Amino acid sequence: MQDLKVVIIGAGIGGLTAGIALQQAGYEVEIYDRVKELRPAGAGISLWSNGVKVLNRLGLGEEMAKIGGQMERMEYRTKTGELLNDIDLMPLIEQVGQRPYPVARRDLQNMLRSAFQGEVKLDRKCIAIEEDENKVTAIFENGDQAQGDLLVAADGVRSILRTYVLGYEVEPKYGGYINWNGLVPADAELAPKNTWAIYVGEHKRASMMPVAGDRFYFFLDVPLPKGTPANPDNYKTELKEHFKGWAEPVQLLIDRLDPAAVARPEIHDVGPIDSFVRGKVALLGDSAHATCPDLGQGGCQAMEDGLVLSNYLLSTNLGVEDALKRYETERKQRANAVVEKARQRAEQIHGKDPIVTAKWYAQLAYERPTDVTDAIAKVISAGPLH
Ligand code: FAD
Repeated sequence: MQDLKVVIIGAGIGGLTAGIALQQAGYEVEIYDRVKELRPAGAGISLWSNGVKVLNRLGLGEEMAKIGGQMERMEYRTKTGELLNDIDLMPLIEQVGQRPYPVARRDLQNMLRSAFQGEVKLDRKCIAIEEDENKVTAIFENGDQAQGDLLVAADGVRSILRTYVLGYEVEPKYGGYINWNGLVPADAELAPKNTWAIYVGEHKRASMMPVAGDRFYFFLDVPLPKGTPANPDNYKTELKEHFKGWAEPVQLLIDRLDPAAVARPEIHDVGPIDSFVRGKVALLGDSAHATCPDLGQGGCQAMEDGLVLSNYLLSTNLGVEDALKRYETERKQRANAVVEKARQRAEQIHGKDPIVTAKWYAQLAYERPTDVTDAIAKVISAGPLH
């Protein structure tokens, strides 16, 4: 189909990537976001090869390589620092044809924002959608409206528009743990600069991975009740307590982090849900399938969504609603499977059943590094750009 106008609600990773893909397909695109200033939520993200391949397809591969960290290895260690497994990532890269890139979220957002041609209209909170036979209209809190041939609802894990599409409300599900994350200067005292270092124990995790600018993106995961009070002034003391007795690099990491610049989300996911599409409205990214970050796939899935959506609009001509149904069929299967797999992984890592977590710790010590890379490659290769 040609000459379509697309309204996108939400300028996160999903909305921006979809915007770029749809513009490159030749469509007119308008993006709206409720915030007054675009700021990424969180410090970093690991874009696995399936996400990077979408960026390659959109002509952003070289820029991505500049802002991405050179991650050659993964190292699993016990909480006291004994090496459990040292994993060369080359077999993975050779198998799937593209290296993964950890990246600072701000760098990724800046890259996507510059690649989207035109304005992102801010301070526009979408509160309702109306559809007739020909058009779909977004209605904003300030009284403005935007009309298009289709609307992409990329409004995140707490999506309002999901209720319009499903006809009922879905409460995001608490993943059972809190994740402190931020950036620190890279330093060999913390971890080798080409390595994703992961310390595991007591159902917690401490992790560092390289991003451009000689920095590590780190996260510290702790299973805690939802609603545990949060105050940046206390982050260091709390983390010192949660990670008491852990290896020296973990202690140094906590000493060096800047609590004012640390994000502390309670991890939630969504779904699997039954529909991604209603009429001329398509859910995309976290609004459809927010995913526990334990596979590093939520953002990558949002990127895949954007590409698949623009491909169906371009390659079919039975109307917008038909193209969206095709998008839904393909993406529901893929992204819902990833939601479920990531949830199982989150439970395994964070001690939902302590016996399962103990088995995983034991397994880390004896499994072959290629078993780990094969499992990652399987998730990557099930995507649209094998
Ligand atoms: P969002 O980024 O949430 O964007 C939604 C946008 O919509 C926001 O800008 C918001 O302001 C706007 N909005 C919301 N409501 C409205 C409204 N009513 N009107 C207008 N605008 C609205 N993924 C990976 O691939 N790899 C990783 O390593 C990884 N690590 C993660 C670590 C953590 C701790 C977390 C929490 C997530 C991680 N993810 C990872 C997942 C990834 O961050 C998300 O999947 C991705 O950011 C989703 O993008 P999105 O555009 O769908 O949603």
